[in-house]
Amino acid sequence: MSTKEAAAKIRPIKPYDPSDLDEEHLLTSWDTPMRPDAFDLTDEEKIDKIEQHFRNIMQTLGLDLTDDSLSGTPRRVAKMFVKEVFSGLNPKNRPVARLFENKYNYNQMLVEKDITFYSHCEHHFVPIYGKAHVAYFSGGKVIGLSKINRIVQYYAKRPQVQERLTVQIGRELERVLHTDSVAVVVDANHMCVASRGVGDTNSKTGTAYFNGKFKDENVKREYLNYINAPK
Ligand SMILES: [Zn+2]
Repeated sequence: MSTKEAAAKIRPIKPYDPSDLDEEHLLTSWDTPMRPDAFDLTDEEKIDKIEQHFRNIMQTLGLDLTDDSLSGTPRRVAKMFVKEVFSGLNPKNRPVARLFENKYNYNQMLVEKDITFYSHCEHHFVPIYGKAHVAYFSGGKVIGLSKINRIVQYYAKRPQVQERLTVQIGRELERVLHTDSVAVVVDANHMCVASRGVGDTNSKTGTAYFNGKFKDENVKREYLNYINAPK
């Protein structure tokens, strides 16, 4: 596939527009919809509540929770939701990114490709997994590569739609790096498509976010060539 065809296959997302921000710079259409009381309960209180609810779901399905293999499941699921797979809902888990001076005045594109992530589709609560490919031009500062990875994981650990995940990663990098020249391509498999519904096991979904210098067709092509997207 030529790069041009590849680029055409990716679903582009409207670049982040600062006018989307409200006065308080708090909520935009790309934020995960959260309730105002989202953090009134502690993690432990949430785990207790979810455990009860999940026990009800299993019982309603007719499962015998006195069985050794099933009895610990409600608590296990509740802990996994709060502490692991949805831990990115809590801003206290947002990675703190330390910046370094761009000492070598490296003013070319920096690319980190093939960042594996695991997320969950917010419509079915089943896994979405895939790769994120991130690039930026330094605005004077650079960031450790492991921090880019952590930013991807933080936003993946929420109930998501792929478009929002892509934009949230892009916008967070812009904020942290003080530059708008950021690109993000996400290639993902959706278990809700593969394992149920239409049962298409081969389709992948590509989403892309291009801002700043990446709006330039030549720069965009160079980046897409490098990541060879979508695979
Ligand atoms: Zn789904």
